Amino acid sequence: MREKDIIRGLAENGRADREDLVTLLQTENEDVLEELFAAARELRQRHFGDKIFTYGFVYFSTYCRNNCNFCFFRRDNGDTIRYRKNREEVLAIAKELADSGVNLIDLTLGEDPELHKEGFRSMLDLVDDIHAEVDRPVMISPGVISDELIQEFARRNAEFYALYQETYNRGLFKKLRIHQDYDERLHAKIKARECGMLIEEGLMTGLGETAGDIADALLAMRELKPSQVRVMTFVPQNGTPMEDFEPQNHDMELKIIALMRLLNHQALIPASLDVEGIEGLESRINAGCNVVTSIIPPTSGLAGVAQSTMDVGEGYRTVAGVEPRLKALGLRVADSDEYKAWLKEAR
Ligand code: SF4
Repeated sequence: MREKDIIRGLAENGRADREDLVTLLQTENEDVLEELFAAARELRQRHFGDKIFTYGFVYFSTYCRNNCNFCFFRRDNGDTIRYRKNREEVLAIAKELADSGVNLIDLTLGEDPELHKEGFRSMLDLVDDIHAEVDRPVMISPGVISDELIQEFARRNAEFYALYQETYNRGLFKKLRIHQDYDERLHAKIKARECGMLIEEGLMTGLGETAGDIADALLAMRELKPSQVRVMTFVPQNGTPMEDFEPQNHDMELKIIALMRLLNHQALIPASLDVEGIEGLESRINAGCNVVTSIIPPTSGLAGVAQSTMDVGEGYRTVAGVEPRLKALGLRVADSDEYKAWLKEAR
């Protein structure tokens, strides 16, 4: 069967062409899908054993100068949640996250005009403070920033730079990330990698893209040599131009996760609790993910991205909340030294 041959080829050497990927993305054959997910899990097991990494999510400023049509935090959304946490608040949350067992602190924000005005000094200092006081690696997600700032974050030893294209269809990009430059966004990732940071690239699905668009994106993403790749299903957001957009189910997200694993055998691939909360963890892990992300302390007052409050107050988006779920799958939460060892090798 052609589909199974494609999966075997991908599992052996990570290679497939656009047409092969489209075939797998379009399949609804249960046998094929089972084989796809099993191959992805086998590759994860081969390269990572039973370890699953966990990331603490600190969305410390929800102000943004941009107006992405899909985003709850877009500049013109009067229905959104706005806050900006100060240094002490961020450090307290980061410490709480580290004590709870997360392997990395993900410092995320919108493209906050205040941060741009002050040249990101406070965020640069936060990277130093987290290294010194929390002793965890840092992922920065500040949006598009200048080459000079990227160099400065690299000099401060920020381990990861996350910046998501979301789509590699330039027409769709223009409609979604209005008044933003596709190439500038791509360039920032390349620059960060050249400066020695690991990079995370991401896609969103359910935005009206075709299977061909996704295949193109998966192949283009691989060229960027990202150490981490993620996909999330679009969740329509109140108060945005896309609030009435028909949402798709999560089947495509799971196929993309598995293909990301088959195309990037040794990559980190997060299962985001931000789409379906804790109930969506198992299917994503079973599709080949090896990171649980968007761990948020229940009392922090922080927002998520796609589901800004789901399962946060209930305490399910914690290491303790995900641990039993992983155990039931024969997996375990990796400790800090294991993550640092992975980082050292990756860098
Ligand atoms: S996706 Fe990012 S850049 Fe776009 S509006 Fe939302 S926070 Fe701003």
